[in-house]
Amino acid sequence: MSVEIVFVMVGTTHTGNLGAAARAMKTMGFTQMRLVDACSHLSAEALARSSGANDVLKEAQTFDSLQAAIADCRVVVGTSARARQLAVPLLSCREIAEELGAASKTNLSGQKVAIVFGQERSGLSNESLDLCTRLLRIPCNPDFSSLNLGSAVQVVSYELSQALVSVPQGAPVPQPGKWKGTDGGEDAAPISADPDDLPATSEGMEHFFEHLDRVMVTTGFLDPENPRLLRRRVRRYFESNRPSGSELAIFRGILSSVENPRKRK
Ligand code: SAH
Repeated sequence: MSVEIVFVMVGTTHTGNLGAAARAMKTMGFTQMRLVDACSHLSAEALARSSGANDVLKEAQTFDSLQAAIADCRVVVGTSARARQLAVPLLSCREIAEELGAASKTNLSGQKVAIVFGQERSGLSNESLDLCTRLLRIPCNPDFSSLNLGSAVQVVSYELSQALVSVPQGAPVPQPGKWKGTDGGEDAAPISADPDDLPATSEGMEHFFEHLDRVMVTTGFLDPENPRLLRRRVRRYFESNRPSGSELAIFRGILSSVENPRKRK
């Protein structure tokens, strides 16, 4: 089994592009589309441009915010035509696909991964990029780097399909860090099924960041009137190597002990 890819379209303004995106996804075997603040995905133009991928459009889910759309995802990949300052690691489309292909052989198999696409004119806002664990850029002409939205979805789905189709169904392979795989040998440990060993969900991360913010404000470390880039830097640090659920519980425990110090004899 591979990771479960969810395509998230943020702020799309042209219904035809949603149809083209659905078509691009379906040709490569993907079906899950989520929409945030997007134009009508069931307009005549969207359905026509989908060329028969109507099912993807009809089953698309709509959300009030990007946070809500990715709440259950453990990896969140933002896509951008430009490199951004203060962002999580920037990788090419192929590198991300390879990373996800490798992750599919670990305990991340079967878990949800969001690929987030921005608005036609402006792309993804900094606030949206703050919610991502990776940034994906399709390498192209540096002087003309902005693809049409539907074309970007096509390139990304193609690369993902190639990397994920080649994931063997048999023994998993070793993986560094917290994406736990095994070498499938005799002494290999089974892949942990404990969800607390997986990278936290976006929902878990948001609760953590709220808690951290509260403590930083209470201790005076963060001036809410003048936060400058502190919040973004802290986010980037944790999102670049998202902690597991059990690691997050330790951090939350530390924060709680700052709020309510324990007396030890
Ligand atoms: N000026 C915007 C371009 C928006 S194009 C920007 O700099 O991001 C609309 C969307 O298509 C982008 O938000 C992104 O999701 C996708 N896209 C277009 N070109 C891309 C590229 N070269 N690499 C990755 N995504 C791209």
